[in-house]
Amino acid sequence: MTKKSRKTKQKTLIQSEMQKLSSFFTADELYEKIKKKDPKIGIATVYRLLKDARMKKEMHSYVCDRKMVYSREKNNHCHFICQKCKKTTHFNIEKIDFLQAKINGEICHFQIDVYGICDTCLRQNID
Ligand SMILES: [Zn+2]
Ligand SMILES: [Zn+2]
Ligand SMILES: [Zn+2]
Repeated sequence: MTKKSRKTKQKTLIQSEMQKLSSFFTADELYEKIKKKDPKIGIATVYRLLKDARMKKEMHSYVCDRKMVYSREKNNHCHFICQKCKKTTHFNIEKIDFLQAKINGEICHFQIDVYGICDTCLRQNID
């Protein structure tokens, strides 16, 4: 097999694996799936294709627990972080009208970190 067709084959495999992931995923998670199908593919190739996809807005990225997570959907990634126990919970914002109203332009994707005290910690305070 020539070098070029091998590269094209790798690219096709990575792209089809990307399409299979429906929710948020990390580059490592994607790489684990790809490695099972073609152990010769390096993580650098995976990172490069993820970057390409982001440039083309086919993939959107967020920071979750100090890691980059990706999504195929123009999604949002929201955290509620408890300042007492440091627990992070995810939530989703369905309607973005309130955000869009504040922005001159079109929203692609966004990330929100909300800080507070979780209900478990609140209940402990009462006792
Ligand atoms: Zn985006
Ligand atoms: Zn997250
Ligand atoms: Zn808490």
